[in-house]
Amino acid sequence: MDIKQLALECGFTVAEPMNPATLEFMQDVRAMCAADRCQSYNRNWACPPACGSLEDFILRAAGYRKGILLQTVGDREDSYDFEAMMQVQEENSRHFDALADILVSSGIDVFMMSAGTCTRCRKCTYPDAPCRFPEKVFPSMEACGLFVSKVCKDNGVPYYYGDEKIAYTCCVLYND
Ligand code: SF4
Repeated sequence: MDIKQLALECGFTVAEPMNPATLEFMQDVRAMCAADRCQSYNRNWACPPACGSLEDFILRAAGYRKGILLQTVGDREDSYDFEAMMQVQEENSRHFDALADILVSSGIDVFMMSAGTCTRCRKCTYPDAPCRFPEKVFPSMEACGLFVSKVCKDNGVPYYYGDEKIAYTCCVLYND
């Protein structure tokens, strides 16, 4: 399966090879989730503490030999254009969910990491009922302790495209 081509068809702007050996899972990054700046901590099955521990992700990621870094890059007027940034983030979530649907359904062995919390449902069932789509829900790169700009740099992919662009970054680990 050509995951790179599939990702581009799902709407991602960028899909480039990522070496799983470059991933460094850091407690300091993971700890930022608890500061709750994105207002998802302890509110969603895909986020800490429900999504699993840093150690869980280190173990899980160790089983993969290949990776692809994915980005949705969109326009904004400047770094204060929050409306445009939210729109690009929503587009990125749609691209991510579309790719996850295809890859999980195909049976290929994948571990995906998103660019934010899970937004599949209008309101997450957490913590009152089980997740509606547990097999298709993945944590964010930050929840896994990954410093996204470093992952990009270590794999030769830009993170910053200038003040008039915004990029949301996620990734796929897989075995084929
Ligand atoms: S699929 Fe729905 S219930 Fe599951 S984590 Fe996402 S929003 Fe929550």
